[in-house]
Amino acid sequence: MAQLSLKHIYKRYPNGFEAVKDFSLEVADKEFIIFVGPSGCGKSTTLRMVAGLEEISDGEFCIDGKRMNEVEPKDRDIAMVFQNYALYPHMTVYDNMAFGLKLRKVPKAEIDKKVRDAAKILDLEKLLERKPKALSGGQRQRVAMGRAIVREPKVFLMDEPLSNLDAKLRVQMRAEIAALHHRLGATIIYVTHDQTEAMTLGTRIVVLKDGVIMQVDSPQTLYNKPDNLFVAGFIGSPQMNFMDCEVKEEGGNILLVHGEMKYVMPENKAKALKEGGYIGKTVVFGIRPDDIDDYPEFVQKFPEYIIKAECTGYELLGSEVLLYYTVNGLTMTAKVDASTAAQRGETIELAFDINKSHIFDKETEQIIS
Ligand code: ATP
Repeated sequence: MAQLSLKHIYKRYPNGFEAVKDFSLEVADKEFIIFVGPSGCGKSTTLRMVAGLEEISDGEFCIDGKRMNEVEPKDRDIAMVFQNYALYPHMTVYDNMAFGLKLRKVPKAEIDKKVRDAAKILDLEKLLERKPKALSGGQRQRVAMGRAIVREPKVFLMDEPLSNLDAKLRVQMRAEIAALHHRLGATIIYVTHDQTEAMTLGTRIVVLKDGVIMQVDSPQTLYNKPDNLFVAGFIGSPQMNFMDCEVKEEGGNILLVHGEMKYVMPENKAKALKEGGYIGKTVVFGIRPDDIDDYPEFVQKFPEYIIKAECTGYELLGSEVLLYYTVNGLTMTAKVDASTAAQRGETIELAFDINKSHIFDKETEQIIS
């Protein structure tokens, strides 16, 4: 059982820089929590405060209700796996995994059982006598993981553990980590700046920017219902398209206007815009490339939400194509089926699914509807 509670946590470095601000999060037992965000947003700092490697400047961190702020790292029952897995080069895989337990004076027979059990889980049984230099990157990463597993900690912290691996190995290790989480039933906090890792591994994702939590939600909710412009732009690849629009009221309708294009807002969006006092103001309209399409049935389904534009780029991804097109000097992206007839240099007719669109306040960057 390991339930973590971070309450109003701050980190101020000695130079006065505030790297983490008012960070509050409850992590349930056995949860797989991901921290994502751009470089320097405070992911590692937060993780290091949980591990006890960085002092908490303000706020309280508890495990199962017990205050941890002053508890030594070794007494927190937390294991950390870093991106540079730092194995001891002169020791075998077996000894690398056994080392921490030996230091703790765990009986030899018990160490042996734990190392062999972990080796089995991680498929390292045949490699126990090898030295790290005779292992592949993925195998080394598994040994680093094994070293954490043998300690049977309550909590695993993983700081970009796959970032040193090539693309193929990352995919493989990602699946292994997901399986490991199920097998071990442990609470995991995992830092990454890789979106795919975040979206596929996490039960919940914490999106950070400049040391502040922007949103905490399931991958699906972050993708479908972003709370603000930052999350909308950060989650999803290719990125959501954004377009500044003016809000107008005409003949009882609420419209979003961008150059020549005018779109009538459906009831829920019209209501939110009107009640929020946005008429006459500029808002940011957002639509994902996945929610724009050019096949005739789709275009006919959304006759009021058509975009006519020049196709300026075409990228074949396999079964799909990314189309780049320009609207009033703004480049937008659509992900369409590879059977598309669109060609670079031609004017294409696309439509978007208004129900999947998002409108944000231009000043506060918060979602309106
Ligand atoms: P990355 O994805 O690049 O690893 P991160 O989100 O993990 O980034 P942190 O390493 O937590 O970011 O750093 C957060 C901020 O704190 C950064 O702006 C960094 O420059 C700053 N920082 C980190 N360590 C110190 C320190 N010892 N003194 C002052 N500032 C620091």
